[in-house]
Amino acid sequence: WRHLDAAHHLHPFSDTKGLNAEGVRVITRAEGVYIFDSEGNRILDGMSGLWCSAVGHGRHAIVDAIADQLRQLDYYNTFFKTTHPGAAELAAAIAQVAPEGFERVFFTSGGSEAVDTVIRMVRHYWAAVGKPGKHIFIARKNAYHGSTIGGASLGGMAPMHAQGGLPIPGIVHVQQPYWWGEGGNMSPEEFGLFAAQEVARAIDEAGPENVAAFIGEPIQGAGGVIIPPSTYWPEVQKICRERDVLLVSDEVICGFGRTGEWFGCQHMGVQPDLITFAKGVTSGYFPLGGVIVGERVAEGLIEQGGEFHHGYTYSGHPGGCAAALATLKIMHEEDLVARVKCEIGPYLQERWLPLANHPLVGEARMVGLIGALELTPHKETRAKFPGEVGTVGLIARDISFREGLVMRAVRDSLILAPPFTLSEEEADDLIATVGRVLD
Ligand code: PMP
Repeated sequence: WRHLDAAHHLHPFSDTKGLNAEGVRVITRAEGVYIFDSEGNRILDGMSGLWCSAVGHGRHAIVDAIADQLRQLDYYNTFFKTTHPGAAELAAAIAQVAPEGFERVFFTSGGSEAVDTVIRMVRHYWAAVGKPGKHIFIARKNAYHGSTIGGASLGGMAPMHAQGGLPIPGIVHVQQPYWWGEGGNMSPEEFGLFAAQEVARAIDEAGPENVAAFIGEPIQGAGGVIIPPSTYWPEVQKICRERDVLLVSDEVICGFGRTGEWFGCQHMGVQPDLITFAKGVTSGYFPLGGVIVGERVAEGLIEQGGEFHHGYTYSGHPGGCAAALATLKIMHEEDLVARVKCEIGPYLQERWLPLANHPLVGEARMVGLIGALELTPHKETRAKFPGEVGTVGLIARDISFREGLVMRAVRDSLILAPPFTLSEEEADDLIATVGRVLD
């Protein structure tokens, strides 16, 4: 926001309460789908924090589970022939909801570490099965896969690459399946196939014998909630299989129910070889992430890989495992994934998608509880707003500060990903707020 201020010489908002000396809002408390700032202003958390607060704020059962665990065992590592019951129990609980054949979990402290783990694990796998030449990763332009050197390199964000001399070698970025912004005159189906063919082209140019894996989010989250056309993922899967390239589904945002299925790849009908996760698995109550390893890679590593020299001090931290187990228990007990798929998801979508009729909205899209409004000053030409971060960022800020609803701006779109516990009344409020602000 400070960046926006500097760029646009904003007038201060009338409501400056709840901000610190630098103009940053201080959030002191949270309950249900709401956060509260230091002045007590109530703000609907339309982003689930940073896409993580899946089961909502103020869940004392999760807090108690963490405290109980830490009282019993504050820390011990899951390496060097030691583990603890929470880590084993959580791996089993994740395998229970993961796609078939995903039975092994490598824990990390978050999503970036999970993505870095994938790079090392996949290269180690190919070396172990006698194909050490397969080391190149195919990723997508404008993707976000984390802020570590590996994650930011697989990510396709130019401003991140500009800082720190990224990407690291061995990564090729291809067309993202962003039909509204980049589909030109093609139908969504044609564009989905076109974007998938760009994956094939990149693999063939590098030589399939040199390509280790393709990584993509089922729905690109931080890139702007880009929902690929239906033709995209099946074609990408086919292309990867034909060329013996592993498929990695980065489910740090899409995993654990966000799309209305336990994993976004299930929504897209795709069977990856590896799945990364973080965020929603603990609903944000404790840092934890990891990689769920499919049969093929697990077998290769176990049979031929020997020891994998990789791991983090906080891999499978007892507190994180307790938080995740308690979160999953709530998801099961309250049937929250089905709620996203069959109840509150469709309820919100029915009210969100018609916002496309507003003169400022070029496209409204949403799957489960992850959506975006693509704003444009001119629908027919799909024109962009002038300026780099300008107008839509300001609208997002206006909504969160003045109207009490957090949304995020990515380029010219407004992004939404509320907690799964959003009620119908809260959804009505949310839609009314967005409509009012657009008007
Ligand atoms: N992958 C994706 C798809 C993400 O959205 C994120 C975080 N926004 C990450 C990886 C990195 O996760 P973390 O911030 O937990 O390191």
